[in-house]
Amino acid sequence: MNWGTPPWTIDFRPEPRPLPASADFAVIGGGFSGLAAAAWLRKIAPRKSVVLLEAAQIGSGASGRTGGLALSDVAIGPLEGTEDVLDAYCKTLAELGVAGVPLFGGVYEIGRNGGLRDSPIVWEDSGALRVVHEVPGGTVDAGKVVSGLARAAADLGAAIFENTRVENIEFASPLLLETSAGTLCAGRVLLATNAQSAGLSGLSEASQAKFTLALMTEPLAPRVLESLGLASGKAFYTADLPYLWGRPMPDGAVMFGSGLVDLASDAELAALDIAQSVAAGLFTSLEWRVRGLHPALGKVRFSHRWGGPIRFGRSWQLFFDWHPRSRQALVLNGLGGDGVSFSVYLGRWAAETLAAGRELPPWGKIGEAQGD
Ligand SMILES: Cc1cc2nc3c(=O)[nH]c(=O)nc-3n(C[C@H](O)[C@H](O)[C@H](O)COP(=O)(O)OP(=O)(O)OC[C@H]3O[C@@H](n4cnc5c(N)ncnc54)[C@H](O)[C@@H]3O)c2cc1C
Repeated sequence: MNWGTPPWTIDFRPEPRPLPASADFAVIGGGFSGLAAAAWLRKIAPRKSVVLLEAAQIGSGASGRTGGLALSDVAIGPLEGTEDVLDAYCKTLAELGVAGVPLFGGVYEIGRNGGLRDSPIVWEDSGALRVVHEVPGGTVDAGKVVSGLARAAADLGAAIFENTRVENIEFASPLLLETSAGTLCAGRVLLATNAQSAGLSGLSEASQAKFTLALMTEPLAPRVLESLGLASGKAFYTADLPYLWGRPMPDGAVMFGSGLVDLASDAELAALDIAQSVAAGLFTSLEWRVRGLHPALGKVRFSHRWGGPIRFGRSWQLFFDWHPRSRQALVLNGLGGDGVSFSVYLGRWAAETLAAGRELPPWGKIGEAQGD
């Protein structure tokens, strides 16, 4: 596997220890969703034991490879009951002591039709790209969010296990999790595995996994950022197709992302090499595209190329529902390319559902997504 190297630093590693035989709550997946849920479970139910099981390292899925644009909507449109997502995202991070991370100054929606007359961005990309309007949101340092959430979960008493893949769940009462490090008996479980392990979550038919790409330029001089319309530091994404998103970084580098590789299985994802075949071709196209956006980018060099896995519901829907085989197992998945703020927001909600009976939202049903 070679998914490339993102620019984020994850500086938290849990202490190795033997897997316990049982836990009140088990969280599967050490991305934003699972880490936020594990931390919040311990915060609201400090007498209950919480174990987080991560197949590789925390943040090794989409969360440590993301672009880090935090937005108030997902691709499918507004979701009832989530109107406060950005505010609640900041508050949750602050309450968990993940401080100083979000930078929320607004995000440019850019497009090829009807751009602002005084658009700071004027680029060429299958038409003239301009700022259409500004939407709420901003950018985060994904390394700090992953590390901060994991540190918060561990400090609050959750036990985090890396290199511990859940291979099977026996849907008995309690639930039996067969992992690469032994069997764990769990009262209630959250499955937050995103692109991988669709079978475990009961999502094989209802969703599809993809691998999406990003790259980063070398740091650009302030006058170059000025001419690109990025001096404000605001991130951007296209409202129309072909899709392109990006953000300036604190050191003047600019991140751009676009492109999806279809994945038929976990094995295909595990074997994916960004220097080979479809992914390599998509990187070449993306580099050409970026160099063609503006004369100031004509000879730009790229310091990082990487990608990461995401999962979409077949009609772009999210999944936030009880597992088809058990009311003791909750599934949070399908955040696609819009999960930065929603993963933490819904991870907290999942903890409140599992530990305190908070009702699930009216959307996110797995059965409906499968058409039964
Ligand atoms: C390149 C890229 C750019 C993106 N940019 C943005 C952006 O700018 N804005 C935005 O909102 N969203 C963006 N996204 C999407 C966003 O990053 C994700 O929606 C979010 O990180 C999902 O978090 P998660 O915790 O649900 O999943 P993940 O971070 O993928 O975590 C799932 C974890 O589960 C683990 N796992 C899987 N199976 C098992 C198992 N059987 N046992 C144990 N562990 C298992 C995996 O190893 C992984 O660590 C981007 C994604 C990518 C890849």
